[in-house]
Amino acid sequence: VKVVALAGGVGAGKFLRGLIRAIPAEDLTVVVNTADDLRIHGLLVCPDIDSVTYWLSGLADRERGWGREGDSFRALEEVKRLGGEAWFSLGDLDLGTHLARADLLSSGIGLAEVTRRIARRFGVGATVLPMTEDTVTTRIEALASDGEHLDLHFQEYWVARRARDEVKAVRYEGAEVARPAPGVLEAIAEADAVLICPSNPVASIGPILALRDIREAARARPVAGVSPIVGGAPVLGMADRLMPVAGWEVSAFGAAAAYSGLAKGFVIDDRDRRFAPRIQSELGMEVAVTDTIMTDDDAAERVARAALSLLESP
Ligand code: GDP
Repeated sequence: VKVVALAGGVGAGKFLRGLIRAIPAEDLTVVVNTADDLRIHGLLVCPDIDSVTYWLSGLADRERGWGREGDSFRALEEVKRLGGEAWFSLGDLDLGTHLARADLLSSGIGLAEVTRRIARRFGVGATVLPMTEDTVTTRIEALASDGEHLDLHFQEYWVARRARDEVKAVRYEGAEVARPAPGVLEAIAEADAVLICPSNPVASIGPILALRDIREAARARPVAGVSPIVGGAPVLGMADRLMPVAGWEVSAFGAAAAYSGLAKGFVIDDRDRRFAPRIQSELGMEVAVTDTIMTDDDAAERVARAALSLLESP
């Protein structure tokens, strides 16, 4: 079976490691969120693309969740000492990725091909693609504790200000006019299954589905998702701060509701079993229930197989 996975960072990375045990990696195309990409030190940094690439290559830092295992931060310390911007942590090895990407981009190669090439260099068998080569940016409108109205880049909200502001609205700037990256629509059209990774529905999957052509293409295929919300809270991250603003309750039901009209199946955690009847009756989705905490690749494989099983023809 050919599979397209829609992905954010960490939750997606763990899940995809399980998925490539359930299907051949060559049959997988991962379409990754780029709306929290940023320019810093003159470099394009693509946190979700790099997370997915590092996780699939086995080089991710499992403890920290982002970046490369065993990385050091000497370059960044020097940047700090010299008065440069140092609020966004980039490890030394990670910087190597950004420099290589900058070189390829400056030679005129598009981000999709650059992303494919870098993933291949990391030994990743799956195809990794950005959702778009155009600029789409998640902007967070928030209220600071002193009452100031803020309009922040997602990374300013999350990393620089550590999610301390009260979120009022989220918008995906540029999404109305952005075109899917080369290869994305083709992969979806050929897919036997489209899987939505257990990623933040607002910050990671929302921007991908905000591209109308991607949403429409996915809607024409069998789609199943996996809940990032377990026991009423995200396993990690700030989905609980963003989902209410988008109108979704912070529960496995709310996570399913985020994909209403798109997904025909949804995987939820054992401890959220009680939501299954509501997801079935109110959202019309098939539900699979399993332990979705992906502590290792065995656990991730079980979650991936549960998602695939929802789409197997009867
Ligand atoms: P990031 O926020 O850009 O790092 O990327 P993601 O959106 O992919 O990752 C964050 C989401 O993954 C959060 O909403 C987590 O709840 C979810 N997540 C992380 N680990 C797990 C896990 O082991 N199981 C499940 N079900 N969700 C997870």
